[in-house]
Amino acid sequence: NEFEDYFLKRELLMGIYEKGFEKPSPIQEESIPIALTGSDILARAKNGTGKTAAFCIPALEKIDPENNVIQVVILVPTRELALQTSQVCKELGKHLKIQVMVTTGGTSLKDDIMRLYQPVHLLVGTPGRILDLAKKGVCILKDCSMLVMDEADKLLSPEFQPSVEQLIRFLPGNRQILMFSATFPVTVKDFKDRYLQKPYVINL
Ligand code: AMP
Repeated sequence: NEFEDYFLKRELLMGIYEKGFEKPSPIQEESIPIALTGSDILARAKNGTGKTAAFCIPALEKIDPENNVIQVVILVPTRELALQTSQVCKELGKHLKIQVMVTTGGTSLKDDIMRLYQPVHLLVGTPGRILDLAKKGVCILKDCSMLVMDEADKLLSPEFQPSVEQLIRFLPGNRQILMFSATFPVTVKDFKDRYLQKPYVINL
């Protein structure tokens, strides 16, 4: 397989090659074409397999930069991972006019509110902060058609699970969910059964 096979936007393909990616990794080969069809995905993937690009590439492909609304939310359990993930999105999307915002706990809420007055297409962050912003009505998620959950096992730990479930209620009914998890504990299986629609399961 080649990245050309996915009929991605030219600008996105340029970002991929400029990042030095020559061919899709196995997780990318499985998840990118399926994610592009709009299907939900539950993928078992460890760090170091290329999982970040496996969800960032379809996310960047699906975003319409002309539509200044939040179209994708990437949920992660830590600020460090949020920063890393947004960096990957910015690099891969270097030639696309996509605005990426990071929002996590432990930083100024006021700054985030101010930032949301500007266009944001892709939001990367931790569940609690995004939920706060959604409840305040400053983070509008009704047009967010894709939700990515990275390290889903951690996102479904008791610390985060209630926020994740409340957050989902702010999304439209027809949203696509891509879940990536290193392990499949019962919390992940249970979440899959309740929220994913005929998910494509990737188990590498
Ligand atoms: P990740 O599993 O997302 O943390 O990625 C692990 C490392 O693999 C990162 O340094 C990526 O930049 C790199 N990587 C991801 N996809 C590819 C690819 N298709 N070709 C070469 N390197 C890649």
